[in-house]
Amino acid sequence: LPDAGVAALTAGDVALLLPRPDARSDKYRRGVVGIVAGSRRYTGAAVLCVGGAVRGGAGMVRYAGTAEPVAGVRARWPEAVVTELAPGEGVGGVGRVQAWVLGPGLGTDADAFAVARSVLAGDLPVLVDADGLTLLAEDRSLLRRDAPTLLTPHAGELSRLLGVDRARIEERRLEHVRRAAAELGATVLLKGSTTLVAQEGRPVRVNPTGSPWLATGGTGDVLAGLAGALLAAGLDCYDAASCAAYLHGVAGQDGPLAAGDVAEALPGAVRRVLNGLRHED
Ligand code: AMP
Ligand code: MG
Repeated sequence: LPDAGVAALTAGDVALLLPRPDARSDKYRRGVVGIVAGSRRYTGAAVLCVGGAVRGGAGMVRYAGTAEPVAGVRARWPEAVVTELAPGEGVGGVGRVQAWVLGPGLGTDADAFAVARSVLAGDLPVLVDADGLTLLAEDRSLLRRDAPTLLTPHAGELSRLLGVDRARIEERRLEHVRRAAAELGATVLLKGSTTLVAQEGRPVRVNPTGSPWLATGGTGDVLAGLAGALLAAGLDCYDAASCAAYLHGVAGQDGPLAAGDVAEALPGAVRRVLNGLRHED
């Protein structure tokens, strides 16, 4: 019997949910996403995350980070509006955004904590990934917020958030993604060979797209940027996470590939879905 609490995501669902620009669109209405990612050590995470948002169709991308990742983002993505933050500085001066992506390659030091706190203290939707999730695991009080929160862990990151062994999560992914959504009061996208999206009161969505070629460094950062662009466009956390997982999987269906190739393949993935093609077509 099909589990009533589980729903397979289809191309038709995604085509209906995806925002399409129309004659009244402008870049602000299409969605401005703010990205806080990267550090001296992990500059590439910032570049890939911004790439996921730019290639995923954001109206505008505002990137904020320290000197080294700022240089990388400026060199690769002229489309992004870049703000250099002093170490320990918050995002107050970044300008208006409609949603935030927080965490890829951010590091977990005091400066990372300070900027994370400034993002999470606000009243906008926030997607938290990677090092941002490590910061949340260290201080769960950061999750006490009124605005929606979307968490995008792999099993290791979820293990730290829940205090449950990674092996137990891998054995019972459905149970743990549900439990995480309930306990953390957030929408949870659990990455892995099959990606699941859970939110209390909704069926767990199972993403049918993707391939093992996606198991390579940086693809998660691209997914975070893409999902952030969809949040900024006005999708709720559940739909933004679901559509991002689907499109990212279509973009990563054929390998070999590097994470940057997944970002480059996103426009084609969006076109396919909007043209009514299923991922197996
Ligand atoms: P991260 O764990 O942040 O590096 O993200 C990795 C990305 O690759 C996620 O979107 C995963 O769902 C995807 N991924 C990792 N391993 C596999 C796999 N074996 N098959 C399909 N997708 C995978
Ligand atoms: Mg990751």
